[in-house]
Amino acid sequence: MKRAVLLLALACVGAAAAPVTAPDPVAEDTLLANITRRAFDAPEAMLAELQQRWPTHAEPGQPREAAWLMARGRVLLAAARAEAADAVAAQLMAREDGVDRSWLLRALAQERTGRSATALATRAMAGLDKRCPAGDEVRAVRELGCDFRSAWEALRILQREQFAQGAFAASEASIRRAQALATAGEDRHLAALTHGMLAITLQAMDKLDAARVELRAGAAEAAGDLVAGARVRNYEAVVERRARDVAASRSAVEAALLLAEQADAPHLAAQLRSNLVDSYMHMGMVKEALQAGQRAMPVLQRFGDRYYERNLHHNLAVAHIKLRQFDQARAELAKVGEFGTDPADLVPRARELRELAETWTEAGQYKEALTALHAERDLNSRANERNRAAALEELGRKYDSAAKQRDLDLLARDGQLKDQQIANQQLAQQVGFAVGALLLLSVALIGVTLVRMRRAQARLTANQSLLRAQSERDPLTDLSNRRHFLAVMDQGAREAQGEGFVGALMMIDIDHFKNVNDWHGHAAGDAVIVEVARRIKAAVRDTDLVVRWGGEEFLVFAPELPADDLALMAERILRSIGGQPIETPEGPLRVTASMGFASFPLGGAAGAGLRLHWEQAVNWADMVLYKAKAEGRNRGVGISAVEAPDGHALAAVLQDFDAACMNGQVRLRQLPGPAQP
Ligand code: GH3
Ligand code: MG
Ligand code: MG
Repeated sequence: MKRAVLLLALACVGAAAAPVTAPDPVAEDTLLANITRRAFDAPEAMLAELQQRWPTHAEPGQPREAAWLMARGRVLLAAARAEAADAVAAQLMAREDGVDRSWLLRALAQERTGRSATALATRAMAGLDKRCPAGDEVRAVRELGCDFRSAWEALRILQREQFAQGAFAASEASIRRAQALATAGEDRHLAALTHGMLAITLQAMDKLDAARVELRAGAAEAAGDLVAGARVRNYEAVVERRARDVAASRSAVEAALLLAEQADAPHLAAQLRSNLVDSYMHMGMVKEALQAGQRAMPVLQRFGDRYYERNLHHNLAVAHIKLRQFDQARAELAKVGEFGTDPADLVPRARELRELAETWTEAGQYKEALTALHAERDLNSRANERNRAAALEELGRKYDSAAKQRDLDLLARDGQLKDQQIANQQLAQQVGFAVGALLLLSVALIGVTLVRMRRAQARLTANQSLLRAQSERDPLTDLSNRRHFLAVMDQGAREAQGEGFVGALMMIDIDHFKNVNDWHGHAAGDAVIVEVARRIKAAVRDTDLVVRWGGEEFLVFAPELPADDLALMAERILRSIGGQPIETPEGPLRVTASMGFASFPLGGAAGAGLRLHWEQAVNWADMVLYKAKAEGRNRGVGISAVEAPDGHALAAVLQDFDAACMNGQVRLRQLPGPAQP
């Protein structure tokens, strides 16, 4: 019966064009896979090759059209012809057997733009799943007509995002499934890559030995395939770098590069060169980094590889700053800027800005450093705001639907009461006495319902204010968070009615905190943050506000504090943080902190009385904190006097702070931290 329907369907297609069957679909798929792979390094040549080989059984409406269209779409993507690839995706969508591949092609296109392709890959996988059931890959490939290469690709995209989100077990499961598909399809190239992907995930799970076993297996699968060999060595480089063996990582990239060059794969070689830039920078080989990067750049541009190009511009900017070639650095940064910031990439962008701020600081360019730092903060707070807004929205939805459900329950109960009343009235015609009793009962029921409604409302209100209070606290330290500080400042600004910010500010940052995390683990890092928060809180008065400003940064706001007392408080805080070791799960640890502090309005003969907005006041505290870091850490730097006739002059001082310190426009007060053993 089924066969008859199929024949009928084929006959219908045949009415347009007689179906021509492919001689050997398996061999043809292998050919298409090879063309697709080579397209990464020679897209135009492969487009021409596809065109020239296009067989009659792949013409529109013919049985193999979807397979060939998919290959064309992928080659077009490699040639950076996104619109043409999109048109192919639309053609695929029109064929019943092309729908899954169409989603996959869109996922691949999305991936090239650097945005998340998970949703599209999931759709592709949902369809592919039917013919490629997990756990039965060999039968799926041999008998069910599983398009194992498409499924492999979809799984690769999915595992990438799982990995990025730290869901390593899920990532491993996806890769193992991809591995089973590659093996069942006897595609050694894909099998080699899968070993590499698995190695990366295993390393992240702290299974370095198992990761290295995978890398060796990958190299064995890649034997005789230079491109696969290069890619496996590149995976090895990533694994070794994450395992902190910078030298091993670098030699793996160099080996990969050699293979890519032997394979005559210019695009891959350029990507590897830009990875090499990273390795060289890690080893302090700035000149070599610059050279490798400058060789890679034109090739990446020729291939329209925007993702790598953007990263490379950033790395080159860092290299130029290190070599004190500031103009070239700014030119590279301008290029980075042209790429814009995708809202999905706020976090990695913020990490880049942080690196820039650090490099500018090392080069003594505090103004640039501060600009980068502020941009980073801005991105971070946008990212935080986005996460928080999503969480609140989710909670809001829950409360809304709970409230609605209660309203519905009440309405239903109300309806029941009314029905009952009508019934009662009918009854009343016969039994007058019953009416009164039942009416009384109804009233009582309504009363109970009303009380319940009020209670539910009160609970809802209490929950909401709890929610609001929680959203202004930092869960780790139980200090106020930045949001709370902003609320306090906004309220203060409203009450001061334009009179400017009054009070003392102190910005505190734990020194070399990254080392605590790196050497003793995140749990120890958290314990240090909690204890430092506690010590700061204990060293200030109850009326002072202590805020967790960021990761290991704290802000103290003392509304009424004479300048001398401020210095005493600063000293007390430095001593209490750095004076005694902190107990952590990894044993006692010593940390120190640096701080910047100032009293507002800023003092000094001519500066007296100059009013600042609170955000500017925070910038001043930040600037002196930077000064304290630059002067060697474990110390406080405060502003004791500023000479500036007006607001403009004051802003100019902040613009070129070092010069202002030098010519005496700003006088600073230095507080050394406690001596360290
Ligand atoms: P510096 O002396 O210049 O301040 O050096 P640093 O290492 O302290 O500098 P940086 O600000 O770069 O490092 C802060 C690190 O703090 C980076 C981040 O991973 C870590 N961090 C941020 N928030 C937390 C947290 O809540 N817990 C833990 N354990 N680490 C955090
Ligand atoms: Mg910091
Ligand atoms: Mg720090």
